[in-house]
Amino acid sequence: MTETVDQRLRSAWTPASAEAAALPPHAVRWLTRRLGPLEPGAPVAPDTAFAVPDSRLPDAARTALADVVGASYLRLGPGERLGRAGGLSYVDLLRRRYPGVLPVPDAVVSPADPGEVQRVLDVCVAHGVGVVPFGGGTSVVGGVAALRGECEAVVTLDLERLDRLVSVDPVSRLAVFEAGVRGPDAERLLAAHGFTLGHVPQSFERATLGGFAATRSAGQASSGYGRFEDMVQGVHLATPAGSWRLGVAPASAAGPDLRALALGSEGTLGVLTEVTVRVRPLPTRERYEGVVLDGFQRATDAVRLLAQQGLLADVTRVSDESETAVSLALKGGFTTAALRRYLAARGVREPCLLILGWHGRAPQRRRARALLRAAGAVSLGRAAGQAWRHGRFHGPRQRDALLDLGVCVETLETATHWSRLGELYEAVSTALRDSLGDPVVMCHVSHAYETGASLYFTVLTPRDPHDPFGQWERAKRAAGDAITEGGLGTITHHHAVGTDHAPYLRSEVGDVGVAVLAAAKRATDPTGVLNPGKLGL
Ligand SMILES: Cc1cc2nc3c(=O)[nH]c(=O)nc-3n(C[C@H](O)[C@H](O)[C@H](O)COP(=O)(O)OP(=O)(O)OC[C@H]3O[C@@H](n4cnc5c(N)ncnc54)[C@H](O)[C@@H]3O)c2cc1C
Repeated sequence: MTETVDQRLRSAWTPASAEAAALPPHAVRWLTRRLGPLEPGAPVAPDTAFAVPDSRLPDAARTALADVVGASYLRLGPGERLGRAGGLSYVDLLRRRYPGVLPVPDAVVSPADPGEVQRVLDVCVAHGVGVVPFGGGTSVVGGVAALRGECEAVVTLDLERLDRLVSVDPVSRLAVFEAGVRGPDAERLLAAHGFTLGHVPQSFERATLGGFAATRSAGQASSGYGRFEDMVQGVHLATPAGSWRLGVAPASAAGPDLRALALGSEGTLGVLTEVTVRVRPLPTRERYEGVVLDGFQRATDAVRLLAQQGLLADVTRVSDESETAVSLALKGGFTTAALRRYLAARGVREPCLLILGWHGRAPQRRRARALLRAAGAVSLGRAAGQAWRHGRFHGPRQRDALLDLGVCVETLETATHWSRLGELYEAVSTALRDSLGDPVVMCHVSHAYETGASLYFTVLTPRDPHDPFGQWERAKRAAGDAITEGGLGTITHHHAVGTDHAPYLRSEVGDVGVAVLAAAKRATDPTGVLNPGKLGL
């Protein structure tokens, strides 16, 4: 059971092959050419480098929690506690390389089922102990940091043992899962019934269904299958105020949709123990392909037309010029002068790569192809689509290698309506460039809607060895200010609020919105033990 920080960071992303985790030599050459000489970063520190304070969990709470879950599922060892001290943002990863004070929980408690989750909450309320729900721990916004708030002690409630498919209703196409089921397990369990969920975020391999619901996650195939909140038909929460079940019908007019309060509540209103999701038959045929368009404006215009005509592929993802150039360069071979000449001869001087992943739906694909041809798209065929599909989970694994090299690498995301997308793109790109000097800033649209789209930025720049935290915090603040200035975009399209985005929430939902959230919190969690400090609550 003993687990170290290092294992949590690396082993859960362990790829099927070493190829996925390492940076190929041509990528390292490209990075040093583009970013200049890099000063190798500090390695991941061993657990012994961290000062883990003694657990402050009161004896009476210890005994009561052990009575609920069994002594072996109440873990107090420094390794287990350190391993749940944070998520997987760049700053979280830095903290494990530059040891300082981490928000370490006083214990890790792993209940076996929804009933035990409720009893754990009851114990924590009785003893004034904070509770941080922990799914896959992939939060990139500080969502699982073990903050104490007003509580004397705080425990991380790990949902790892709630890993069952409870039931499948093939007639209604519904499945009930316990909240700790991870992405691949959900797909494996559903495949046995001929169904798929179709929710594949980049953190798929490690994140859980409860985490997806608690953060309103969006997967790579969101254009076809919807965001996770679109899939959720019902939820069961354990709350300090009691058990709360929502969602009895596919649609309802019984007052405001209270499921929407649970979705995105980030563990502040209750612990999701079960999630009922819509499922779909497994696709009989998948086809991934790539096309290029000339310039990001033209490319996003084409995606807008696809969205507004109901022709989006299940996976629709279009990269800007910078991301296209980098991904083609890193694949090797594609940036040959011959390819550039080939594209230029067809009117594409600023290639922007559009990946289309079709799960069946041949008639829509034919119409989409015609629309794209009319927009000047040049096909790169299936090879480009398959290459993207093959490497779509490599990014998280390669972050460790980039950090080892001394690179500052982070992502941020936002969304807005089509008419303001170009303005938002310019504002965020400029903010990142102004605050970081001469970084590589790349962007793609990965989630498109009839009325707008998300923008997902990736930044690469040499890490400032003297102020690695301040360097990114300044850049992130500049980007956040640019996004929210004048209500240009949302502070988060799918990464959620956690602690990092909490300062921006009021500007997005208003004073009344913040008061509504606080009132909901008082109703379900009157003593404020649930996930202190998240969502600004
Ligand atoms: C490399 C990488 C790539 C990513 N890609 C994507 C992506 O493509 N799309 C996307 O949407 N997100 C992405 N994320 C963000 C993250 O994976 C999502 O926020 C995910 O939904 C979190 O799931 P989790 O199980 O890891 O939750 P955790 O990180 O464990 O928790 C997230 C938040 O939800 C709360 N929570 C977790 N489980 C429960 C529960 N059962 N009940 C109540 N509250 C709970 C936690 O307290 C925390 O506040 C990515 C993250 C990383 C590190």
